[in-house]
Parts: sequence; C-alpha cells; structure tokens
Amino acid sequence: MAGEPQSDCLFCKIVTGDIPATIVRESETTVAFRDINPQAPTHVLVIPKAHYPDAASLAAAEPLIAADVLREAGLVAADEKIVESG
Ligand SMILES: [Zn+2]
Repeated sequence: MAGEPQSDCLFCKIVTGDIPATIVRESETTVAFRDINPQAPTHVLVIPKAHYPDAASLAAAEPLIAADVLREAGLVAADEKIVESG
C-alpha cells in the first residue's frame, strides 16, 4: 500500500536505517543519500520517507511531498554534481 514501508524495498530499509547509507540531507518528508553504486561516487538519490512505487504514484497521491523531493534535490545539487529524484 502506498505510503507504508515495504519489507522488500531497499529505499524503505535505508529510511528506517536497516541498511546503512550515507545521508547527505534529511527533511521531515525526504531523505537524500549517496548512491552506494561505486561507479557513481557523486550520485545522490532523494526519496520520500513514505513508500511509493514510483514518482508518478507519489505525485498523484502526495503532490506536496513530491515538491519536497524536488526542492531537496535542488538543495543537494548546490553541493553535488549529479542528483536524481526517485
Ligand atoms: Zn519503499
């Protein structure tokens, strides 16, 4: 169900701390963390703390949180070269 943590979801486990990640920014609704892919050491992902299957579902269900994700991505971009929302 949208918004509920999913036990098989990597992002949810990062939000809850079950999987360690390098958090670069955090807001009430979003977490920005460094992508663990070693081929992209400067890659940062911004995700909502609540689980959504994809960005379209998030935008449809929670447009304010979707806006938060975009705003946080813009803030991270001030310090990072590559940012991807998702
Ligand atoms: Zn999730």
